[in-house]
Amino acid sequence: SLSDKLQRVFKNIRGEGKLTAENMEVALKEIRVALLEADVHFKVVKAFMEGVRTKALGQEVLSSFSPAQQVIKIVRDELITVLGTHTARLRTANQPPTVVMVVGLQGSGKTTSSGKLARYLSKNGHRPLLVSVDVYRPAARQQLAVLAKDLGIPIYEGTPEETKPVDLARSARREAEISGRDMVLVDTAGRLHIDEDLMTELSQLKEALNPTEILFVADAMTGQDAVKSAEEFHKRLGITGVVLTKMDGDARGGAALSIRHITGQPLKFVGTGEKSDALEAFHPDRAASRILGMGDVLSFIEKVESAVDQKKAEQMQRKLLEDDFTLEDFRDQLKQLRKLGSLESLLGMMPQVGMLKELKNVKVDEHEFTRVVAIIDSMTPKERDNHMLINGSRRRRIAKGSGTSVQDVNNLLKQYGQARKMMKSVSGGLLGKKMGKLKL
Ligand code: GDP
Ligand code: MG
Repeated sequence: SLSDKLQRVFKNIRGEGKLTAENMEVALKEIRVALLEADVHFKVVKAFMEGVRTKALGQEVLSSFSPAQQVIKIVRDELITVLGTHTARLRTANQPPTVVMVVGLQGSGKTTSSGKLARYLSKNGHRPLLVSVDVYRPAARQQLAVLAKDLGIPIYEGTPEETKPVDLARSARREAEISGRDMVLVDTAGRLHIDEDLMTELSQLKEALNPTEILFVADAMTGQDAVKSAEEFHKRLGITGVVLTKMDGDARGGAALSIRHITGQPLKFVGTGEKSDALEAFHPDRAASRILGMGDVLSFIEKVESAVDQKKAEQMQRKLLEDDFTLEDFRDQLKQLRKLGSLESLLGMMPQVGMLKELKNVKVDEHEFTRVVAIIDSMTPKERDNHMLINGSRRRRIAKGSGTSVQDVNNLLKQYGQARKMMKSVSGGLLGKKMGKLKL
């Protein structure tokens, strides 16, 4: 029956006291797998999970969540914190032009990102100048020249004598000074693997240019490898920010967490396509949700956070204590559940962890749900306030008004009676007394 189902829902979505090693275990395991699947480096996963475990242990479980959901919420919040609570911007030099070095492995998206950044900056009131110092691959320099032309952004193409990266870059900066360009974007050469030659070359460039930003371009699809190269680039050059490319693919972007964890440097931009406008500022909250996956659980948590009305919750609690839970409240409760989505989709959103697993198979009759609300809607305020008033003739009238039968009305009143009992026995139901601690 509906009340059975409701009872199970109430039981399962309310909190269970404090988070313990035991009631967190399943959720932590799931999260660990999720992070590894998102290509977060295993060492980073280990460190991160230990931090979360310590933080979560002993925390009170909010009454709207199961321990598993609460742990996931803590993890999401922690991910956001680690990834950076605000979106970073590019820093500019006190004395223009600002030099931005774009570095990374071959194929990570340096040239594409240089073009995108130039476009982004010029849309934001800057006057960038592009230069490619990839002297080993003429095609690479050509690629940037074509991009620059398409975007209508000037590029320093060098003289035949300028065969060294440092010479090219120096001349480009001089050119920027002369032509009043306030930013120089230096697209550097990459290698398939990190090697000594590349690092030496990049160090020399850094020395000669004194760049304000050294942006490390990481391919989100490379996952685990990103850590090693980010670490190496940071050790040798001191990167100041990260551009995570190819996030338009299915990569969950675990590299973001790994790189942030290893280098401590902020993610600044995300590449979301091959075209020049496919560049976005990095948003820690979006990235956290994507890394964690579990979109269904997260949207459940967000829905609860936004749907549950704190004032109502307190009111309801008081009513329960004063044994003043009316049919009107019963309907409000149902509607509150409704706001969270249909009961069925609510159950569908539960994570497949622990005890919630079995709940996934519970089928809820949507019609029954609608019928109950319709019946209560057909009652007068007085009747809703005091169910004892509802005698035989009133039942017939209500049935007629709601397009149901007297039998349906009888059933509802029975369910309401059961719900009253159930609500009293549940110390803090969906709208329980711990609700006050839920940040809205
Ligand atoms: P570089 O060797 O580091 O300069 O890499 P490129 O800029 O030449 O990019 C390598 C390949 O990745 C090219 O085919 C780009 O079109 C592609 N690419 C770069 N960024 C993105 C992105 O954000 N999304 C997608 N889908 N492809 C990208
Ligand atoms: Mg390139």
